[in-house]
Amino acid sequence: MTTQPSPAPDVIVVGGGIGGLSAAVALTRKGIRVRVYEKAPAFGEVGAGLQIAPNCTRILDDYGLLDEVKSLGVVPTSMVMRDAVDASELTRLDLVDLERRYGFPYMVIHRSDLHGTFLRAAERLGVDLRTGLAATAYEQVTLPTGRPGARVTFADGSSDEAETVIAADGLHSVARSLLVDDEPVSSAYVAYRGAVPIEQVRANDVSETDVVVYLGPGCHFVQYPLRGGEMFNQVAVFESPKAVAGEDDWGTPDELDAAFDGTCGQVQQGLPLMWRDKWWRMFDREPILHWVHGRVALLGDAAHPPLQYMAQGAIMAIEDGWVLAEHVAAQQAVRTESGSGVDWDAALSAYDAVRPPHCARVLTTARSWGELWHLDGLARRQRNVVLRGRDTHDYTYTDWIYGPTALTPDQEPPHYPVFPLSSVEVGEPAAV
Ligand SMILES: Cc1cc2nc3c(=O)[nH]c(=O)nc-3n(C[C@H](O)[C@H](O)[C@H](O)COP(=O)(O)OP(=O)(O)OC[C@H]3O[C@@H](n4cnc5c(N)ncnc54)[C@H](O)[C@@H]3O)c2cc1C
Repeated sequence: MTTQPSPAPDVIVVGGGIGGLSAAVALTRKGIRVRVYEKAPAFGEVGAGLQIAPNCTRILDDYGLLDEVKSLGVVPTSMVMRDAVDASELTRLDLVDLERRYGFPYMVIHRSDLHGTFLRAAERLGVDLRTGLAATAYEQVTLPTGRPGARVTFADGSSDEAETVIAADGLHSVARSLLVDDEPVSSAYVAYRGAVPIEQVRANDVSETDVVVYLGPGCHFVQYPLRGGEMFNQVAVFESPKAVAGEDDWGTPDELDAAFDGTCGQVQQGLPLMWRDKWWRMFDREPILHWVHGRVALLGDAAHPPLQYMAQGAIMAIEDGWVLAEHVAAQQAVRTESGSGVDWDAALSAYDAVRPPHCARVLTTARSWGELWHLDGLARRQRNVVLRGRDTHDYTYTDWIYGPTALTPDQEPPHYPVFPLSSVEVGEPAAV
């Protein structure tokens, strides 16, 4: 039997992570022929859990994937913030009420389950999926049809071209250098993860229905159930003294234990269950306000790698693909022999007008949330007063992010008002 050669793609996506695959799904649903190139020998995701907020589940619902994701994940009841030193509750989001407000649930899911959902959707839709090819260079070209396009060259010397190339190649993106000469910015923080069967934590004082975040000086600890409640996910994040001192060997397990010294029993019980053979040093990049270079467009972490404190990195990547596909559909005339019929200049410039400013806000807000979470001394007590005073059903801090994803800059909601923490009055610390 001979196999038919696949038709030339309209779009090449470089990178088969959550960003690349979700963009491939979004574009294919609009009638675009997509080919994905992933450098790894197989598609997959390393890591544990992901939180996905209503601005993501709304899009999953649009794709017809929300039921599958619900069957694989967990819809928690609340998100609770506690002080990591004394375990006292600081504030909570009622996620049942939150779903009523935004129309879609706040969920937690194993990364590989969300990635697998997009991979299966891409296969069903007929996306041309290729592995084991690492992109090394990009250039603008005139296609054989006479229309403009872009070419990608791979490490093995082969190349491919299409009307548009979407670079979803992550934090260390090769394509990003087309737009800016920058480097990832180290936060000196490191994350340890660990997902274990729920039986292993039942004896500990854990919630099987909530997302719980313990905020501590220079550290925080996150817990939530996964896989319909069969698994339990924990993330331990701390500032590495070795990173601050400029040493290369930073984030090692001895630093993990030292960083959480003095935290409450619930956190101490969780620490031995963290995976100790791998850890994630946390980098972001300075926001950039343009992601499109001719017919090459950045997407996902390649465009906007965040610190993860707002749990919006994968979500922003999914939103990017959805927004791009909506603009592509709006700019698509009839497909002809010479191509897809999409006015790519118009579609890419509409994408570039709305997504970078939104993601820049998320990146800078994530940095300031990290600072707020990790405060010590007087500032920590001032933060705790503010969080304790927040009404459970106050959505001031979530309306700008969990509502419908903006397609145009005028749809972007205002940010929340910021006030100086130093203006908050606190009493004397309790005597120990
Ligand atoms: C500790 C931690 C917790 C997090 N929690 C959350 C959360 O709760 N919610 C959330 O939304 N986000 C979270 N994030 C962020 C989220 O994981 C990322 O933002 C998201 O996975 C980015 O997806 P991506 O597809 O853009 O990039 P990546 O996942 O990095 O995928 C890039 C892909 O491109 C491939 N690739 C790279 N270079 C090339 C090349 N040259 N050629 C071909 N292929 C290439 C890679 O192999 C990879 O498959 C968290 C991050 C961390 C570190």
